[in-house]
Amino acid sequence: MHLSRFPRLQFAHLATPLEPMPNLSKLLGGPNLWIKRDDCTGLAGGGNKTRKLEFLMGEAIAQQADTIITQGATQSNHARQTAAIAAKMGMECHILLEDRTGSKDVDYNYNGNVLLDQLFGASLSKFPAATDMNAAMEELASELRAKGKKPYIVPGGGSNTVGALGYVNAAIELLTQANDMQLKIDHLVHATGSAGTQAGLVTGLVATNSQIPVLGIGVRAPQETQEGNVFKLAQATAEYLNIPGAVKREDVVANCNYVGEGYGIPTESGIEAIELFAQQESILLDPVYSAKGAAGFIDLIRKGHFADAENIVFLHTGGSQALFGYRQAFNLPEYS
Ligand SMILES: *Cc1c(COP(=O)(O)O)cnc(C)c1O
Repeated sequence: MHLSRFPRLQFAHLATPLEPMPNLSKLLGGPNLWIKRDDCTGLAGGGNKTRKLEFLMGEAIAQQADTIITQGATQSNHARQTAAIAAKMGMECHILLEDRTGSKDVDYNYNGNVLLDQLFGASLSKFPAATDMNAAMEELASELRAKGKKPYIVPGGGSNTVGALGYVNAAIELLTQANDMQLKIDHLVHATGSAGTQAGLVTGLVATNSQIPVLGIGVRAPQETQEGNVFKLAQATAEYLNIPGAVKREDVVANCNYVGEGYGIPTESGIEAIELFAQQESILLDPVYSAKGAAGFIDLIRKGHFADAENIVFLHTGGSQALFGYRQAFNLPEYS
């Protein structure tokens, strides 16, 4: 696949490391566990949105945009990474935050990613849960155009065909690493939300005939909706790459049993996953995405779901900056 045909800015620190997790593997007693460190993509603390933004910002520059508009939840990692690259490109950045949790916690509303959005100079505005955020972005874009600006809208999570190319690229990168290390990957597991990461990975892994199955652990929608969203975007991404029909419905698998009460609301199993990864492997997860993904990963290993597998890779999609917005989710002892 020839991704150089598409506009792209190269600012991510790639290739991200593919590392073993010996302590966690031993503790869980199943297959060998590996981690693909997309928390280390470099931009503003890293995360999966950086790979998507390489292609999205490439398109924005190609269209001569001078202003970026995007949206996300209050503690959006996507918003942080977008604000950061907009700053570097000398572009104005408007971030529309949807208050999906209704939390009044000061840390949630002002610390973590929100603090960083503001440090990168983005202007923030807040919308109630269930607002039509795409319509809100279009409305702002019209207002800015009327003022002579050239806005470019980055969709929520950077999840469209252009953004998904970042994860087609990640699939090729992972495959190259696995081949160089003579590592036979039996499964790839990661947290799935706005669908771009899984859609890109599935498209890339199918198009390269890797035969590596991908399991997305949902963080918001029920399984049928999530798989439907991923499949739709994967199909569109394959078309964009000139391989229409390459992705089959059965290539898209999500498990949405680890969402808990809802998007952005921490779960007990997610908190356990954060503590396990931190204390066994010195790796920081986040309560919204990677912890729920890891909770599914851990639970399925404990249940013997991957019994025949030799090597499983967990894709770390980043997000630890959100930890500081969620101090109250942890039952940590006082000290004196
Ligand atoms: C956005 C995000 C995800 C989900 O990726 P999608 O492409 O939106 O499905 C997973 N983990 C983290 C930390 C994220 O910020």
